[in-house]
Amino acid sequence: MREKFGYWMPVHICYEEGISKKMTRFIKGERVFVISDPFLYENGLAESVGNSLEGKQVSYFSHIEPNPSCESVDEAAALAREAGADCVIGLGGGSSMDVAKMVACLVSNEGSVYDYYSGGTKELKGRDTMLICIPTTAGTGSEVTNVGVFTNRKKGVKMPMVHDLFWPDYAMIDPSLTYTLPPAVTASTGMDAFCHAIEAYWNKESVPVCDMLSLGAMKLILENIKRAYEEPKDQMARGAMLTASLIAGISFSQTRTTGIHALSFPLTTEFGASHGTACAVTLPAFVRLSQGQEGEKMRALAAYLGYGSVEELAQALEELMADMGLPTRLSQIGVKKEDLAHIASVGLSAAIINLTPAEMNEKSVHALLESIL
Ligand code: NAD
Repeated sequence: MREKFGYWMPVHICYEEGISKKMTRFIKGERVFVISDPFLYENGLAESVGNSLEGKQVSYFSHIEPNPSCESVDEAAALAREAGADCVIGLGGGSSMDVAKMVACLVSNEGSVYDYYSGGTKELKGRDTMLICIPTTAGTGSEVTNVGVFTNRKKGVKMPMVHDLFWPDYAMIDPSLTYTLPPAVTASTGMDAFCHAIEAYWNKESVPVCDMLSLGAMKLILENIKRAYEEPKDQMARGAMLTASLIAGISFSQTRTTGIHALSFPLTTEFGASHGTACAVTLPAFVRLSQGQEGEKMRALAAYLGYGSVEELAQALEELMADMGLPTRLSQIGVKKEDLAHIASVGLSAAIINLTPAEMNEKSVHALLESIL
């Protein structure tokens, strides 16, 4: 048990089937700016959320790409300023929600995202614009974190930014929005949520409150992910997965993530893997590694999840991923032996890698990557 810990999670959470179309009473101000991605705009979801906001002036930005670039953030921010947005809604997966966080800040802070992120020299001074996040994937937990992840195209890197102004005012959790998720996205985003939970649990900065949340989230995911994958409209499974990703988000919002997420950055930007896939592929290897410094805690986790040993848990995760068509080897996403040193060095440049419960250096990370090539 840790000698000292804190807990601060200021997001107001509303969970209800259909809540995304009943939000008028929560919104302060008249002008609402809805940020989503092309799929969610074209399938009518963004407009149906906007149309339900009686008496509000609603405008839309729908060009968010996966692993959103700073250029998309700036484009959206220019339109949000022009619209005089009082409230920014991030509707979508982590990509749309993360952009909404920065855009809500940029409405009342001048300049570009580059001024504030990844070597920028300005400080965000405050946020006058309300921020509401509505997840449509059950994965990132971004709706309850103070993290935004953006791709810096100038440097060719993807990095997280943490800021207290990024805590949304409201997280609106509506499981019905996830019924359209295709199986492959259900699988990869669901495993991303599992990674959040386990990375908070074994984290060097773990928090007892979050350990309990993580245990619950991991169990819910293992009990429901296959059902959500096979039966996209199963209400119980979808609700459980969205609850689990929310809980895992709360958990890692306190601890941050670890090596899995650090290594996912080059795997997405340079090898094109989706965020969840890039995380899941190294999960079993990190589970095995975590036995070194966190043996007792990991054995307790394996037992809680119904496995006889940590190795059994690692094997079960590999089988689950393979059953859902996710890669379990780096070569399946195009990584070659000669790429490993570079992936290790980019991963090691992310500060979160130092929260892994193991010595992380070029040699140990290279060996871990080689074990799953
Ligand atoms: P995403 O937002 O990039 O969306 C992936 C795909 O799923 C898109 O094509 C989108 O159109 C589609 N999609 C979304 N909802 C859908 C639905 N209901 N039905 C059908 N298709 C749907 O994916 P993501 O995995 O949710 O987010 C990944 C991003 O979030 C990455 O950039 C990652 O780094 C970031 N992230 C942020 C945090 C955080 O705390 N801020 C945490 C983890 C990850």
